[in-house]
Amino acid sequence: MAKQQFKAESKRLLEMMINSIYTQREIFLRELISNASDAIDKIYYKALTDDSLVFNKEDYYITIKADKENRTLTISDTGIGMTKEELENNLGVIAKSGSLAFKKENEAKEGHNIIGQFGVGFYAAFMVADVVTVISRALGTGEAFKWESAGADGYSIEPSEKLEVGTDIILKIKENTEDDQYDEYLDEYRLRSIVKKYSDFIRYPIKMDVKKSRQKEGAENEYEEYVEEETVNSMVPIWRKNKNELKTEDYENFYFEKRYGFDKPLKHIHISADGAVVYNAILFIPENTPFDYYTKEYEKGLELYSNGVLIMNKCGDLLPDYFSFVKGMVDSEDLSLNISREMLQHDRQLKLIAKNIKNKIKSQLLSLLKDERENYEKFYQSFGRQLKYGVYSDYGANKDDLQDLLMFRSSAEKKLVTLDEYVSRMPEDQKFIYYAAGDSIDRIEKLPQTELVADKGYEILYFTDDVDEFAIKMIMKYKDKEFKSVQSSDLGIEPDSSEEKNEAEEKDNQELFEHMQSILADKVKAVKASKRLKSHPVCLSTEGDLSIEMEKVLNAMPN
Ligand code: ADP
Ligand code: MG
Repeated sequence: MAKQQFKAESKRLLEMMINSIYTQREIFLRELISNASDAIDKIYYKALTDDSLVFNKEDYYITIKADKENRTLTISDTGIGMTKEELENNLGVIAKSGSLAFKKENEAKEGHNIIGQFGVGFYAAFMVADVVTVISRALGTGEAFKWESAGADGYSIEPSEKLEVGTDIILKIKENTEDDQYDEYLDEYRLRSIVKKYSDFIRYPIKMDVKKSRQKEGAENEYEEYVEEETVNSMVPIWRKNKNELKTEDYENFYFEKRYGFDKPLKHIHISADGAVVYNAILFIPENTPFDYYTKEYEKGLELYSNGVLIMNKCGDLLPDYFSFVKGMVDSEDLSLNISREMLQHDRQLKLIAKNIKNKIKSQLLSLLKDERENYEKFYQSFGRQLKYGVYSDYGANKDDLQDLLMFRSSAEKKLVTLDEYVSRMPEDQKFIYYAAGDSIDRIEKLPQTELVADKGYEILYFTDDVDEFAIKMIMKYKDKEFKSVQSSDLGIEPDSSEEKNEAEEKDNQELFEHMQSILADKVKAVKASKRLKSHPVCLSTEGDLSIEMEKVLNAMPN
């Protein structure tokens, strides 16, 4: 049979992928196992809606067999299998993800757990294999087909034979070269540890033959080897495990496996709640801002499971907007499997969970701030803006939750400081928390108004983000100290010169001021003598609530 070519763009992608996407070759196994698990999930899901199909748990499993002599590694599953067309469509076009198509088709009915989200998984096999053979028999068909490919030059499909429904993936493992070792992927011990590392929480048994030895019957000092099939994975999902048994690495693997992000999480939060509402959750605070985070496309939410079965991919109701960067999952026995989106919104249990989660995130962030300052600052660079929006939105309803998490640069060493730090080092005679807003720290420091405050030895918070001042207006007071812009007319700093002297100056220069006023016309409201200037000849100040910077932002907004 003639070789089919991979679709044009696939070829180059395939080469690229084999050589660069994955830095660790061993993850090919994770990809193939998660495909096998997906395939079983698909049968499970079908059985939920199709009465003629019965899902007997014992019939569904994954096996891994290594054959050192023939250098083959076979990963088999009793999942849904693939028809000829599916082999062609799913394995012939690299960027097309079958799981994704299945997901779209069934989006309305959600009720299955499909791990793979990207269409590159299967091709990871070529990192360790010269030839990949797939023999598959689809559910509801009597025929099997064999798909085979030696990499980027194409693939062939021909009829084959297979007794049971399901799929065998046979990898012809590459020969060792001077630089690269491949033998390890035929080594049972090594394979077991890879399965443990990445696929331990797969819900179906992953079985492997294990060599064991026992005493020979009748002979005292003689031993014989025998082979026994064992389930390698513990099948208990990570969120049901005891925190003490888990290492940071386990959480990181989970984060990666779930494709929550491509970075390493900065912090994980593992919750096992059994109070008013019973649930398990694993949450992550990412280190980097997702590329679409500050756009409309970004969708917040946590995966929601009901007793181990995924019911929603992104449940937005579980997270407040200001914590929308949090990734992870929640599993609760208290939620019904068939709950609809609309019902979820009003679900009392879900509301309790959401509140609980919000408080946990807050307290974790506070402890990050206290104990891992550097990491907190990393986090704040990525998501601080979102916290400030959070303070500002909903008319400041969330300020109590958020104000202790805020940071600003300040005139003291230009480092990030918290409001608490600012207030705790205020000199006794300082009445206000001073801030100055501007496009950049450089420009702020050139403001004539900062001079007087700085001269008094008072620290000034630098507001360089549009949202800063709006957020602060919502907070109004922190620990009984009001915020005060250095540009406001009443700074609460005693002037050095007496009132009379000032009035006298005002009179002396009345003519000059009136002349200036007439030239500036409606650009300024009044021209006055200032008590706040030192080395600068003139400054702008505002009256009332809006600062110059806020006026700029408001003027820039579309009406
Ligand atoms: P993804 O899993 O992200 O969809 P993959 O490249 O890992 O992408 O797999 C491509 C597609 O091939 C899958 O979506 C699935 O439709 C099909 N497939 C792969 N392995 C199997 C399998 N063992 N059983 C059934 N279908 C499979
Ligand atoms: Mg996959």
